[in-house]
Amino acid sequence: MSKTCIVIGASHAAGQLVTSLRQEGWQGRILVIGDESELPYHRPPLSKSFLAGEKTAEEILIRPQATYEKADVEFLLNKRVTKIERDIKAITLDDGQQLFYDKLALCTGARVRVAPIPGAELSGVCYLRTLADVEKIKGHVTNGGNAVIVGGGYIGLETAAALNKQGMKVTVLEMASRILERVTCSQISDFYTRIHQEEGVDIKTTIQVSELVGSTKVESVTCANGTKIPADLVVIGIGIIPNTELAQEAGLEVDNGIVTDQYAQTNDPNIVACGDCANHPNELYNRRIRLESVPNATDQAKSAAASICGKPKAYSALPWFWSDQYDVKLQIVGLNQGYDQIVVRGDINHSRSFAIFYLKEEVIISVDCINRPKEFVFSKKLVANKSSISAKRLADESIQVKHLLEIE
Ligand SMILES: Cc1cc2nc3c(=O)[nH]c(=O)nc-3n(C[C@H](O)[C@H](O)[C@H](O)COP(=O)(O)OP(=O)(O)OC[C@H]3O[C@@H](n4cnc5c(N)ncnc54)[C@H](O)[C@@H]3O)c2cc1C
Repeated sequence: MSKTCIVIGASHAAGQLVTSLRQEGWQGRILVIGDESELPYHRPPLSKSFLAGEKTAEEILIRPQATYEKADVEFLLNKRVTKIERDIKAITLDDGQQLFYDKLALCTGARVRVAPIPGAELSGVCYLRTLADVEKIKGHVTNGGNAVIVGGGYIGLETAAALNKQGMKVTVLEMASRILERVTCSQISDFYTRIHQEEGVDIKTTIQVSELVGSTKVESVTCANGTKIPADLVVIGIGIIPNTELAQEAGLEVDNGIVTDQYAQTNDPNIVACGDCANHPNELYNRRIRLESVPNATDQAKSAAASICGKPKAYSALPWFWSDQYDVKLQIVGLNQGYDQIVVRGDINHSRSFAIFYLKEEVIISVDCINRPKEFVFSKKLVANKSSISAKRLADESIQVKHLLEIE
């Protein structure tokens, strides 16, 4: 009898998982259940080219509908899974329907962290995670209008850049003493502060929003220090929370994400988890991590599909990320937590092209490349091989990147 694999969530991880399932030889039914209305689409453009109006919804689909039809992958969209019963291998949908699985894949991703700010219910106050969120934001974009971004993380800053491009006067409000504080070094924070200021965005740090003011529509933002900023649009970007409740209620192990092994397998042999929702072991850094990035979602989905098909392949990809703001392409390789030395290659104070190497006990653990594609490609090798290169040599631009590893 044909077997059924049910996939919960219909985004990056799911889109890759269903394709990989067929490649690995899964011949049974594949049913994807997602609570958004669209087929899996690329989320990164939401705060970049899609918000800037340079791409349409169709252009950001991960795969066209015909590809799924050809692979015989079924979708149930606008439906939410509310319960998993592992003893009878069944799930329940929000309309009460019960469906049975042989294998289950949790690709539930993450949702935005909601800010408990008075006035957050006013029209013009938005979050940014889904295509529907961006459609809502677009309804408030006006040339010359005022936009306030709450939160100076990558998504907040990309949103600021996209709105600035469309003629809005943008202010970014960050509670910490510098933007991007949670994720990067102070040199990168200073760099992005400079870039945004050069482009005309106002960045205010060490400032807390106390109220969003308006009658039905937001009109201004009041801060705890008394500052009042006019606002036609407020976008709140203060981080995300992994969607783990379903797994937790089903008795799966959860700890900052659904706990998996290196094969994307949960503590139930019939259930895998991958993407933003999964906490997995990382061989290179020798610790468990939960990543929020597209390469992680797609690579881990490949392992999950292999596990479902009984051909386990360990997930051990090197983490990498990117961010696009104005003409600045940041590519990050590796994780920088725990670094004890920073080396800058290039002019960080006046240019828009340089690389920052993060070292721990003289080993390169991570690299941020700003408009430096060659350094990025080479850095993948440096980080994966736990390379050691002297600070003097890394900073010396007279040595070509490809020669950096040669004997000093
Ligand atoms: C604006 C923005 C910009 C980004 N830019 C970058 C970037 O430049 N580079 C990068 O690497 N990453 C970027 N990311 C992060 C990247 O998009 C995520 O890492 C990726 O989407 C994770 O994919 P996923 O499939 O694990 O989860 P998600 O994309 O979160 O998808 C999970 C899906 O499952 C659905 N779901 C959850 N629970 C249920 C349920 N019970 N029933 C049915 N459906 C359910 C959710 O609604 C969602 O549709 C960005 C994200 C955003 C929002």
